[in-house]
Amino acid sequence: MAEPQEQSKSALKKAEKQAKMAAAKAEKAAKTATLPVVGGAAKKGGDSKEIIGITVSKETDFPQWYQELVIKAELVEYYSEEKEHVEGFAPELAWVTKAAHLTEKLAEEEVLQILELYAGVYEQLLAVPVVRGRKTENEKFAGGYWTSTCEAYIPTNGRGIQGATSHALGQNFSKMFDIIVEDPEKKGDKIHVWQNSWGLSTRVIGVMVMLHGDDKGLVLPPRVSKIQAIIIPVGITAKMSPEDKDTHMKRVDEIRASLKSAKVRVDVDSREGYTPGFKFADWEMKGVPLRLEFGPKDAANSVVSYARRDTGAKGAIPIDELVTQVPALLQTIQQDLYNKADEAYKSHRLQLTEWEKVVPALDSRNVVLIPFCEEPPCEERIKEMTKSEHGGEVGPDGRQLPSMGMKSLCIPFEQPQGLVQGETKCLNPECGKLAKSWTMFGRSY
Ligand SMILES: [Zn+2]
Repeated sequence: MAEPQEQSKSALKKAEKQAKMAAAKAEKAAKTATLPVVGGAAKKGGDSKEIIGITVSKETDFPQWYQELVIKAELVEYYSEEKEHVEGFAPELAWVTKAAHLTEKLAEEEVLQILELYAGVYEQLLAVPVVRGRKTENEKFAGGYWTSTCEAYIPTNGRGIQGATSHALGQNFSKMFDIIVEDPEKKGDKIHVWQNSWGLSTRVIGVMVMLHGDDKGLVLPPRVSKIQAIIIPVGITAKMSPEDKDTHMKRVDEIRASLKSAKVRVDVDSREGYTPGFKFADWEMKGVPLRLEFGPKDAANSVVSYARRDTGAKGAIPIDELVTQVPALLQTIQQDLYNKADEAYKSHRLQLTEWEKVVPALDSRNVVLIPFCEEPPCEERIKEMTKSEHGGEVGPDGRQLPSMGMKSLCIPFEQPQGLVQGETKCLNPECGKLAKSWTMFGRSY
């Protein structure tokens, strides 16, 4: 049961498919031309033109940035491991589950429990804030009863993106296929079960990549990063005696072991023949949250130098405090990533009561909350009416404006103040019906 009404798959899937080709093309271009390189580094001793960085900036060419990042941060394997997908579902849909309940109330409780689990994956693990709510009739799971959803936001292009959905199917399918159980209250009576269905897709990875990544590559939240801290030995010169080098590397290994004992997922980059600068850029591209540098100077001061991937902030930690300070720093990075994204989402979620402000708000990369009648024909009209006449033109920030109309993202469970039932009208000026809720609309994937 794929979601036929969902149009949002195409953009991400297309980007993933084209990624390899585009990256190869970009690399070729970078070698033959003198393109400005963002976040790049040259390999020591090798071809000085060898580029590992992304050749465009996230702000100026988001689609190209995403395509290159997927390749260069070696994310492609995530996407290509999805061959064995559930028959009939979109390939990106990784886990699908169904359940049956005796009553509507029990079914509803579960729908919301599952939604909360999914929201937790986004917020607690991926540091991606989401708005929880209910889909409109137009956007709900076709044939279902109602659909709950959590919706994320990509500040770079101002688009909403559906995070995950959890559906109440109601009794529609159990009546269709006569799925019944004995009524435990009334012997002999039969009940058509209340069914639910939910699924989480690998889109979670795409949302995280698009949200946190920067011109140097991937930025992984510590909780989901396979390697949380990478130790890079520095200052090891040809002049160093083999004994001194050996002693230094032993201390590096002690640092690794103590961090491992503190449950930090840590590794050492002891590759020979690469400059520290190359290694820095390489691990930045892969998004490892914390870089730890250890050189003879650090050893003399009994400290380890660090650099945060998310902010670039640098500092030093005394070796005997590593086991407490590194986990604390990883926690701070996790929280800061979330806070930054949350601030961006909140400041770009505009509550509007004037129709004239809707399209300019979309053009300024916002999503909007508007009083809405929740009627499907009205939603169709809103989509038509909000297609920007400036689509394709270059906006004030030098980037092309999209022409796409807005669709409803969700009816948030947490409703803002200011809507008077029986009084406030739907914001669509052609509609005239009463508004039922503040509904979140936006251009979306
Ligand atoms: Zn309306």
